Amino acid sequence: MPRIGFGVWQIPKNSTASCVAHALDAGYRHIDTAAVYRNEAEVGEGLRASRVARGEIFVTTKVSNDDHGFDRTLAAFEKSIGRIGLDYLDLYLIHWPCPARGLQVETWRALVRLQAEGRVRSIGVSNFEPQHIRDIIDATGIVPAVNQIELHPRFQQRRLRATNEKLGIVTESWSPLGQGALLDDKTVRSQAEKYRRQPAQIVLRWHLQSGLAIIPRSASPRHIVANLDIEDFALDPEDVAALDALDRRNGRIGPDPLVF
Ligand code: NAD
Repeated sequence: MPRIGFGVWQIPKNSTASCVAHALDAGYRHIDTAAVYRNEAEVGEGLRASRVARGEIFVTTKVSNDDHGFDRTLAAFEKSIGRIGLDYLDLYLIHWPCPARGLQVETWRALVRLQAEGRVRSIGVSNFEPQHIRDIIDATGIVPAVNQIELHPRFQQRRLRATNEKLGIVTESWSPLGQGALLDDKTVRSQAEKYRRQPAQIVLRWHLQSGLAIIPRSASPRHIVANLDIEDFALDPEDVAALDALDRRNGRIGPDPLVF
């Protein structure tokens, strides 16, 4: 999985295809969507509009909360890849564990089946807490390849990252820029001046140096390019430490997976 992907949540339907095509032209090789984003068809349009071969692109989508359960998940998968226009998917994720519904294990069994049948190359989860991960591994013996979770300097999820790492699960940061909130932070801004980079590039560089995969989102062509252009500089250890110090107990922006 390319470590930097392009996230398309909340990109308006009528600009998703052009943003995806632009991202691919700029060098992205990983696109992150979900059934619930309602733009899978437009992602497919963007994939076809670019000149990049299918085999070079890593496409992720997610089964939505309404489609948990074995049969429903299999049906939801067919609809998703039909909308995107693919004959296989690179990564399929359970979007949220939805513990109150208690169908994570059945949903996971469907993903295991899809992988065994070659419809999807890798399977994983999103927003799973340690107990949810343990439940699906205990039931199937199959470890998710990825856990995509809310993660940014104000919400660093150290305990969950340690669990992922112990199990060999890749941690992928969603809302890596804190949905833009980190870009006005004074530590981030002063580092942007020091390195002569955009604030977003400083934050994304922190993720890479922290061993994380990222899927920043932007609809601005200039920002799409900038967010990928972060491999040619490195933050000094004291600057990584200053960003590490931004972690907050109440830094979560999105819903809490234990109750959502
Ligand atoms: P993000 O942290 O990527 O921030 C996006 C915001 O930052 C936008 O307002 C954008 O205009 C701005 N921005 C981006 N690059 C910039 C730059 N260089 N300079 C200035 N501003 C910039 O937020 P996000 O969209 O919430 O998260 C990224 C992706 O993560 C989503 O698109 C989606 O694919 C995924 N996601 C997954 C889940 C999940 O439950 N699995 C939840 C939320 C998001």
